[in-house]
Parts: sequence; structure tokens; C-alpha cells
Amino acid sequence: YNHQLQLSERTEIISSLAASVAHEVRNPLQVTRGFLQLIGSRSEEKEKEYMQIAIEELDRASVIITDFLTFSKPQLDETVDIDVNQVIKQIEGIIMPLATLQGGRIAVSVPPGLYIRGNVSKFKQVMINLIKNGIEAFQDDGEVQIRAYEMDSKVYLHIKDNGQGIEAAELAKLGEPYFTTKTKGTGLGLMVTFRIIEAMQGEIAFESQKNNGTEVIMSFPKVM
Ligand code: ADP
Ligand code: MG
Repeated sequence: YNHQLQLSERTEIISSLAASVAHEVRNPLQVTRGFLQLIGSRSEEKEKEYMQIAIEELDRASVIITDFLTFSKPQLDETVDIDVNQVIKQIEGIIMPLATLQGGRIAVSVPPGLYIRGNVSKFKQVMINLIKNGIEAFQDDGEVQIRAYEMDSKVYLHIKDNGQGIEAAELAKLGEPYFTTKTKGTGLGLMVTFRIIEAMQGEIAFESQKNNGTEVIMSFPKVM
């Protein structure tokens, strides 16, 4: 009998556990934040300062949860035909302001009529995680380009940024739990992303050079 779990099994357990914990923790965090704000608004200067620190720490915890389940509704795990164009439109409200805040922009070129199979919430999570990484890599005059097309019975999706790029040695580590090069990173976004894409029978590849941007290329079986 072998007590040692395979790396893949361990990764599986860590990520499914973390996903359910994240979901349970999200609501109490939000409630606590609301009350802290309320108390802060009625407090003396010194207390205000402490409340602000407490709120910032809560927000830090929320970033971790964002990487896991921005849209997740675990009880609704149904698989449908996903309209790629429609999903991009739905997440524009989140990603456009993020890009603007970082002094850059998003360019979208996704025609209607491209359908892939999967869970809409999870696919949105994939798109958010990848686009967020592109935005977080912004240098001067940042841009993320999103485009989609079909070829050989597959739907291809490219997310390309002109940001800081990835070292060759780091490319192999993408998707490892907790691998991050950011001071406030979680190193969980790509792990979650890879798992979802695998479940959708899709593929993902990264092309990147240090200081020369990154292109993420995904493909999914096309729904006829
Ligand atoms: P996090 O974003 O919290 O660091 P991720 O799993 O999303 O965790 O990404 C892991 C690491 O992969 C990042 O810290 C970064 O080093 C690298 N990375 C991913 N996408 C990009 C990108 N578009 N440009 C540059 N580096 C990237
Ligand atoms: Mg990330």
C-alpha cells in the first residue's frame, strides 16, 4: 500500500478543497467589510485608521478568492453551449475598468456564432484570470488583444498582451499551485484556469519572451 499521493492527485485535492473553502469564506468577508466600514464612518480619527487597515487586509483575502471563483456558483455546475462572443461582452464590465486603472486598454475581435461546450461561470473565470494576468503585466501603453476564430473543428481563443513577458525558466512553472512572481500574487489563478480548460477538453499554450509580451493560445472542440 502506497501512502504517497501522486503530484497530480495532490494538486487535485488542494485545488478542490481550496475552491470550496473560498466559496464558504467569501460571504462572511463581505459582511465583515460592510460592518467595518459602518463603524469606521462613526469613529474617531485613530479608530478610522485601524478600520482602514482591517478593510485592506480583508481585501487582500478577497484577491485570493477572486482567482478562484469570481463567478462561481458551485451548485449550478451545468454544462451548456457557450456563446464565446456573448461571454466576452458579459465580462467587459469587469475587465475594461481594470485595464483603464492600469493605464491600458482591451481590444476585442470575437465574431458571433462561435460555440464551445462547458460551464459558463467556469469559462468566465478562465477568461478573467488570463486577462487579469495580461493587465497585471502592463508596462507603458499596455494593451490586451482578445481574438477568436474557428479552424479544423476547433474554436481558437488568443489573449495577447504587450507586457513584461515571462522568463523561459518560468514558463514550465505556470499552473503550479502557488507559483507567482508578484508581491501580491496568489499563484492560484493559472492552476484553476488549467483545470477548467482540461475539464472542457480544451488546450492551452503560452508563448512569451521576457520584455516582449505574452500570448495565450487556447483551443476547444467546436460545437456543431
Ligand atoms: P498570480 O497572477 O497571482 O501571480 P497566476 O497563476 O495567475 O498567479 O500566474 C502565475 C505567474 O505566471 C504570475 O505571477 C506571472 O509570473 C506569470 N504570468 C502569467 N500570465 C502572465 C502574463 N500575461 N504576463 C507575464 N507573466 C505572466
Ligand atoms: Mg493571476
